[in-house]
Amino acid sequence: MNLKDKIRVISDFPEPGIRFKDITTLLQDGAAFRSAIDQMAAFARQQNADLIAGPEARGFVLAAPVAYSMGVGFIPIRKSGKLPGETVSVSYQLEYGKDKLEIHRDAIQPGQRVVIADDLLATGGTVSSTIKLVEELGGIVAGLAFMIELTYLSGREKLKNYEVFSLVQY
Ligand code: AMP
Repeated sequence: MNLKDKIRVISDFPEPGIRFKDITTLLQDGAAFRSAIDQMAAFARQQNADLIAGPEARGFVLAAPVAYSMGVGFIPIRKSGKLPGETVSVSYQLEYGKDKLEIHRDAIQPGQRVVIADDLLATGGTVSSTIKLVEELGGIVAGLAFMIELTYLSGREKLKNYEVFSLVQY
């Protein structure tokens, strides 16, 4: 199955000049969704993941079924102020201003192998912040799995020390 054909590209969203990769058209196709999750789970299995972490919101949609399929735990990475327990947080630069990502302090035990799953690798900023959170808790980042990679933004270069897997490239 060609997953790229299932992704809809919308020009000038959310602002002029951006070619937005809309994965909702892939998610609504049961066979395509299953194929994507199966391939991401096969990668995570190869990396011997103990846990799958995903940043909100689109990361949840992919990381949770990958974890379920493997029978391992899912760790939510959330925007500031959403997690009820004690958290560790990291600030990251957005195009305009700053944002914060958080993880529960007791989500990962030192030495556990964590695969991070998200919809799209662009500049690599979001995943770099997620890596920091996992490593701050003593987790080993065993791999990074994306549905989409925008190769022209060279996010992979920021991630040289990690195994990067993507299903569809632009
Ligand atoms: P980055 O931190 O630059 O790697 O950006 C990653 C996040 O921004 C992804 O998880 C996407 O949700 C979103 N994103 C960035 N560029 C696009 C795009 N062209 N189409 C859809 N989502 C995007």
